Amino acid sequence: MLAMRPGCPSSTLVCAAGSRGRVRDALWRWTGPVLLMVGIQYLAPSLKAASAGSDVDRGIAQRLITAATNGTTAMARLAELCDTFGPRLSGSTNLEAAIDWILATLVSDGFDRVRGEPVKVPHWVRGPASLEGRDPAIGEIPLLALGGTVGTPPAGIEAPVLVVTNYAELNARPERAVGRIVVFNPPFISYGDIVRYRSGGANAAAKAGAVASLVRSATPFSLRTPHTGAMNYEEGVRKIPHAAIATEDADRLARLQARGITPVLRLVLSATVLPDADSRNIVAEIRGWERPGEIVVVGGHVDSWDVGQGTLDDAGGCLAAWEALRLIKTVGRQPRRTLRLVLWTNEENGLRGAKAYAETHRDELDRHVIAIESDSGIGPVKGFAFTGSQEADRRLRAVMPLLATIGADGLKAGAGGADLGPLLQRGVPTMDLWTERTDYFWFHHSAADTVDKMNPAELNRCVAALAVMLDALGNLPEPLPR
Ligand SMILES: [Zn+2]
Repeated sequence: MLAMRPGCPSSTLVCAAGSRGRVRDALWRWTGPVLLMVGIQYLAPSLKAASAGSDVDRGIAQRLITAATNGTTAMARLAELCDTFGPRLSGSTNLEAAIDWILATLVSDGFDRVRGEPVKVPHWVRGPASLEGRDPAIGEIPLLALGGTVGTPPAGIEAPVLVVTNYAELNARPERAVGRIVVFNPPFISYGDIVRYRSGGANAAAKAGAVASLVRSATPFSLRTPHTGAMNYEEGVRKIPHAAIATEDADRLARLQARGITPVLRLVLSATVLPDADSRNIVAEIRGWERPGEIVVVGGHVDSWDVGQGTLDDAGGCLAAWEALRLIKTVGRQPRRTLRLVLWTNEENGLRGAKAYAETHRDELDRHVIAIESDSGIGPVKGFAFTGSQEADRRLRAVMPLLATIGADGLKAGAGGADLGPLLQRGVPTMDLWTERTDYFWFHHSAADTVDKMNPAELNRCVAALAVMLDALGNLPEPLPR
């Protein structure tokens, strides 16, 4: 049943019918309720179907797009956040100070129920590290320890190198790796393909008898900048130090080996795992006027790696979601259902924030209409990627034309945001902001992920796309079917 708000298009059915003369008034008094009920029965489905693309919503969508594309707040706040509190690794004072600043700013924006929900997060601390090419005398080689690695003994490890392209090459003759530093040098075909060596390389190398492992940074382009990221140890496998080197150095070591030379490296790594630290998921809302218990989640992750400023990954995603909701407030829209900003903590090295959110809110997950994340780099926006039922997909397609003016009307299958995983597992439909930033992995997890890499106009178009989508999802007459 449609609930009517004063001034909503449906209520004009009643207003117009009762105002023309006594006879008509009397007729209406007796027949009106019946006609109205019959009318609603026939009209309601078509009103519902049409509402996502109605003229009223088109007007709101255009106002949101104009406000977003002319805006300066998203970029100004992004720069302030990253310049003041970047980088923001879990367990760091920077991350918690950033969370305090965001919470205070959300309160001053006038959001409802602004809070930090407690999460225990891993606390890994990178220490001083060095890598030196001894023979031949390459000298100092830039490196970044991978998140979670153990350190070397204080004096370091000096050992000859074995360069391999992939696991198959290592495992074909594993005896060659005994006592060596294994260097994984796979080509960048896709991030998903190369990242297997970053996450699991130490295990494969240790099983073959290596004393340490290095991995080519997960990027298709480099200015001799190493890229960090998460790695893990398999239960029962000897833990060896694991670090990333720049593509240039991985290639150099491979060329030396191809000429019959076995380079010798000296690796010193210090890294510490401290007890779990206190952090928070940031949660803020625009409460729904009609169905406050139904929730549309949107967000990104507030933590970052401990290098650079964590701008593209993922302050940009956080700001795009935050600003989209702020603009919905600014244009005076109050949605039917609750729009909830969630800025997850600890995406990078634990996903504890996403797991804690799903656990804390387990009793209301059946009323989560959808969860949207932006965590693949703010760039030219194409639309959205969606995971959910066919019927939900069909309803979303009615919304997409609202985004045609900014070229963000694409809808493709498959939302893969890491923080969405625990919600997806519990049946919540999920969506990613779909951007096509071709240079994202040039900067990702490196010292070069800094504010200057953000294009303010592209950020604003991402804000616009999210604002229009959130307004539509917040006002659909019925939740998306699962
Ligand atoms: Zn990220």
